[in-house]
Amino acid sequence: MEFKRIMGLILLIALVVFLVGTVFYENSKIQTSSNKITVAVTIPSEEEFVKAVGGDKVNVLVMVPSNADPHTYEPSSSQLQQAEQAQMYAEVGSGLEFEIGWMDKIRGLNSNMEVVNCSQGIDLMQSTDPDEGNQDPHIWNSPRNAKIMVQNIYEGLVKIDPANKDYYTKNRDAYLQKLDDLDKNMTETFANATNRNIMVYHPSWGYLCRDYGLNQISIENEGKEATPATISRLVDLADQENVKVIFVSPQFSNESAQTIANQIGGQVVSIDPMAENYIENMYKITQVISKAQKTP
Ligand SMILES: [Zn+2]
Repeated sequence: MEFKRIMGLILLIALVVFLVGTVFYENSKIQTSSNKITVAVTIPSEEEFVKAVGGDKVNVLVMVPSNADPHTYEPSSSQLQQAEQAQMYAEVGSGLEFEIGWMDKIRGLNSNMEVVNCSQGIDLMQSTDPDEGNQDPHIWNSPRNAKIMVQNIYEGLVKIDPANKDYYTKNRDAYLQKLDDLDKNMTETFANATNRNIMVYHPSWGYLCRDYGLNQISIENEGKEATPATISRLVDLADQENVKVIFVSPQFSNESAQTIANQIGGQVVSIDPMAENYIENMYKITQVISKAQKTP
């Protein structure tokens, strides 16, 4: 009977160890996640920027999903509840309609939230689309602007969490180096472009064109599909400028782009201005645009 008692004791101890372990494990999990700084951002590209600098010290909440149009998207109530818990909001800050419509409300949810304007220090361009206000809001689609956005995010994180400044500095420097490499690749690739025009449905590429010497021709006008008159004018322009590829994006309709492509005997190609994997996507876009420019 002694044996049974010992076995019983061993089982009991094993059970206690297991339970205590589980409780400690759960606690440590909760602790780690609550120690992280929650940073809300507007667009998916900013998620990569914040994660690059913040590493394992941050959680990122993206307000406008990658497949949504940042001009018309409205956040869900659960997204707003999550945003309320964020210690920092990194707004694009260039006049994106989502932010014009929602930033005051989001700010009002939590007065302790550090709001970082990522566009600070960026030379904003005049918009070609009157529907988007006076400024072109798509600043992130050039790595030269992305570098400034990353620096602004870095300053926000250091302000909130000065104890980890060295960590953030090291991360920022590593990511800025990657953006420099990307910039160099784009500069070299576009330097060889034989045709500098890119015809696009939605004008998301103004800063890319400015920084690499290209010319954006947009189909969409005032956020609306082009009229038949505009289409026929663009078909003539495409013929004249030897444009053979019309660029569209997953967030927007491509009906008129297809119409133009059919009429010029060209093709429609999709490039994504709202991708989650920013650097990888920009390399891809550079290749796709440069290939289109070489299309005879
Ligand atoms: Zn836009």
